[in-house]
Amino acid sequence: MIYYSLNHQSPNVSFAEAAVKGQAPDKGLYFPERIPTLSKEFIQNIKNYSKEEIGFTVMKPYVGESIPDDILKQIVVETINFDFPLVKITDNISSLELFHGPTLAFKDVGARFMSRCLGYFNRNSQQHTTVLVATSGDTGGAVANGFLGVEGVDVIILYPSGKVSPIQELQLTTLGQNITAIEVQGNFDDCQAIVKQAFIDDDLNKKFSLTSANSINVARWLPQQLYYFFAYQQWHHEEPPIICVPSGNFGNICAGIVAYMSGLPVKHFIAACNANDTVPEFLQTGEYKAKQAVATISNAMDVGNPSNFIRIMELFAQKIENLKSLFSSVSIDDAVTKATIKEVYQQYQYLLDPHGAVAYKALDDYLQYHTNDKGFILETAHPVKFPDTVEEVTGVTIKIPESVQHLLSKSKKSVMLSSGFEAFKDWMMQA
Ligand SMILES: *Cc1c(COP(=O)(O)O)cnc(C)c1O
Repeated sequence: MIYYSLNHQSPNVSFAEAAVKGQAPDKGLYFPERIPTLSKEFIQNIKNYSKEEIGFTVMKPYVGESIPDDILKQIVVETINFDFPLVKITDNISSLELFHGPTLAFKDVGARFMSRCLGYFNRNSQQHTTVLVATSGDTGGAVANGFLGVEGVDVIILYPSGKVSPIQELQLTTLGQNITAIEVQGNFDDCQAIVKQAFIDDDLNKKFSLTSANSINVARWLPQQLYYFFAYQQWHHEEPPIICVPSGNFGNICAGIVAYMSGLPVKHFIAACNANDTVPEFLQTGEYKAKQAVATISNAMDVGNPSNFIRIMELFAQKIENLKSLFSSVSIDDAVTKATIKEVYQQYQYLLDPHGAVAYKALDDYLQYHTNDKGFILETAHPVKFPDTVEEVTGVTIKIPESVQHLLSKSKKSVMLSSGFEAFKDWMMQA
């Protein structure tokens, strides 16, 4: 598979080069030159395939010759070695639970796939690669866990001190080995600014081979398609589903649309946003206006200029009318999100996290006007990662899942730095 830059000013590249570079030299996002078509036989008999067979079949055309088949198979097996259950909440709404991975967030799949690809591409290199990533909570944990122990790759995670939840902090700071956590005395934007500055700093680039692990990387973006195939394996209704995805940078939902375009039956996609309503507004006005992000209780979706939206537009030939035939987007505020968590818990004893609650509300509203349809939400994080909100509105103390119990006895190790680039650079140059 060949990848081109959406800015059209850089040479085409292979999967390997796109994954190692992250972004094209012209600052465009890489995009596959064509969307492969899956056979009808494969879709119709999807229930008879194992998760691993689906993973390999779907990913193989995108990876092409960059990775030999036996190694790609192994990467797929390690990427998806947990459950993706589709759980019924009401007669019409189910929840695709994507929080059964090691860091309890859907980002595990993309991070695990990408880290193993980079480990393979780096296998003969003398120089270590240093992955720099800023996180508001979920990304850092998934990336750290995904890259833990990968040879030749060091990971440095910057997170805002005091602004991630206790479980998230333990996931970032207790791994050791090739993972270092930097606790920045500032907010997420300060962390992000440091990382951006680092990528263009001459001294750091001389000393380190730096790369990023954010969702614009094709090796993190494309494997997210697999959730949608796993959901369809468990879909027992005649009509295809309405799929509602809580969206921030729009990488996850964009991967779902790619799956649809390669043959997966889907009736409609809804991108559910919090107060950050750049895309819902675009669909209404036809004019795309990036905004400053505002803080909400579903903070992994606090994005004012979603980086992957350009990829969605590319899938629809950059035409808004085409997009609207399959896709809608709405904004749900914090008050409604809290009321939804409470209501769904009281009526159905199902505990949503704030991101899943945004999606639930958006889908429920849609189904009021499409009474013959059924659908599911993507539940992107475990509620225990956002205990303050969930416990406040439901009164329930959330049980910590067994898979993360071991974290509680570990001690946090982090490097505390003041915000601002110079402190970070000094620390790096001494490292
Ligand atoms: C990252 C994240 C999202 C947003 O996903 P995008 O692909 O950026 O749209 C939603 N929910 C949770 C819990 C996340 O961590």
